[in-house]
Amino acid sequence: MKLTAKIVGIFLLGIVFLTALFGYLTVQSEYQQFKRIKEQNAASLGNEVRETLVVAWKDQGHQGAIRLVRDFANRHQQMIIRWVTTDEGHATSKADISKKELDLATPDAMATVTKQDPEGNEQYLIYYPIDVESNRAGYVEFKVPLNDVAEYTRLTTYRTTSIIVGMLLCGAVIITLGIRMVGRRLDKLVEKTQRISQGDFSQPVEIQGDDEISELGLALNQMSDTLYQQQQELAAASSARISAMEQLRHVDRLKTVGRLASGMAHELGTPLNVVSGRAGLIASNRLSQDEVRDSALVIKSEADRMATIIRQLLDFARRRPPQQSQIDIRDVVNTAINLLQPMAHQRDVELIASDSAPLIASVDPAQLQQVITNLIVNAIHASSPGKQIHVSQFQQEATPPTETATPKHLYCCICVADQGTGIADDVMPHLFDPFFTTKEVGEGTGLGLSVSYGIIEDHNGWIDVQSQLGEGSRFTIYLPAQVD
Ligand code: ADP
Repeated sequence: MKLTAKIVGIFLLGIVFLTALFGYLTVQSEYQQFKRIKEQNAASLGNEVRETLVVAWKDQGHQGAIRLVRDFANRHQQMIIRWVTTDEGHATSKADISKKELDLATPDAMATVTKQDPEGNEQYLIYYPIDVESNRAGYVEFKVPLNDVAEYTRLTTYRTTSIIVGMLLCGAVIITLGIRMVGRRLDKLVEKTQRISQGDFSQPVEIQGDDEISELGLALNQMSDTLYQQQQELAAASSARISAMEQLRHVDRLKTVGRLASGMAHELGTPLNVVSGRAGLIASNRLSQDEVRDSALVIKSEADRMATIIRQLLDFARRRPPQQSQIDIRDVVNTAINLLQPMAHQRDVELIASDSAPLIASVDPAQLQQVITNLIVNAIHASSPGKQIHVSQFQQEATPPTETATPKHLYCCICVADQGTGIADDVMPHLFDPFFTTKEVGEGTGLGLSVSYGIIEDHNGWIDVQSQLGEGSRFTIYLPAQVD
């Protein structure tokens, strides 16, 4: 509505201003025209009386001129005419205008002045000069009442004011109708648009009529329906994608579990042997009371160790929805290392963890553990017996690889560095491709790095790889650090 009111208001102001200006200019022009006509009349009457007046003045002087002009005035009633002079001796016939102005007057450019009479009525005074033998004898004064002009001005002002009031009334009607026909309907469209922008596609906008605004309403409803459909399709596609990703992550986790289990079978063998041996000793009844007690304690400690290993394995294999929380990522790194120590041991590879200050980040611990485990398993696979794998964590300022000119941010980094085979140049571009593997059938599925990449990307981080063929590789995970 504001727009309608503004447009009508500006339009009205313009029209009102122009009408008032027109009225004023008309009055002014009529006023000047009236005076000009009266001046022309005065000039022609002056010309008419001049010669006889000169003769009368010559014969009878000032009194003769007064008498002659009085007779002349009786014959021309439309104006008050009298003989006036600048001579101080004739006070009754004195002109109502300064002597200086009168002196300049000629029959073609008469002296004029507008004055008020004692009753307050406006009068226009015209002075026609009469010269006798190059001396100024006096003037014929024409007095024109301006009452008619004042009346005309009043009428024109009244008429103009009436037109302006009429236009203002019309403006008020237009604004009222504008509110009903345009403003309220546009408000409905705006309200619908706002609801769409907030993701609310319910309730189509209803606009009566058969004009452009109702057509706009229909188009808006159609757009809203299309957007709603697209949103639904997008949501379905995205949930299908998420579920596929979850599936892949689970498959990858189970694959790792299989690998770990073989390492653990070896790892569990030793404590099982110890348990079996000690239990046999207790059963033989050949031990003293204290020895039985020692053996029982050894059995308990070995059983606890096995239970811990198996629980970690089960925890890792269990499927859980992603849940981010603020944690110290050193805990996740340590759990993964503990889980993989048996596998590294089996392959005679040394897995070395470095200590650091607490590193707080918002992550899903299970998913992060899956990524670290993948990287360490790959490192173990790439390392020959006797080599070392260093796992470290630290904070570092960095710029995401997808952005170039942005300022640096603080990241929590987890680095897995091995002294293994390294990665060939032709393998490097495919490292994160799903199902890409250089391992023997049954050894690798090619899912580990692609799944890891997706997980870290979901955490707004990335994985950096540096490798030297024959010397080893260094995988670094970057996760946004929690800044207080
Ligand atoms: P998979 O381990 O099942 O093969 P990944 O996606 O984890 O699948 O790894 C893909 C490939 O990347 C591996 O087959 C291997 O060629 C290479 N790769 C990964 N990590 C390393 C590493 N630390 N050293 C050498 N090559 C590696």
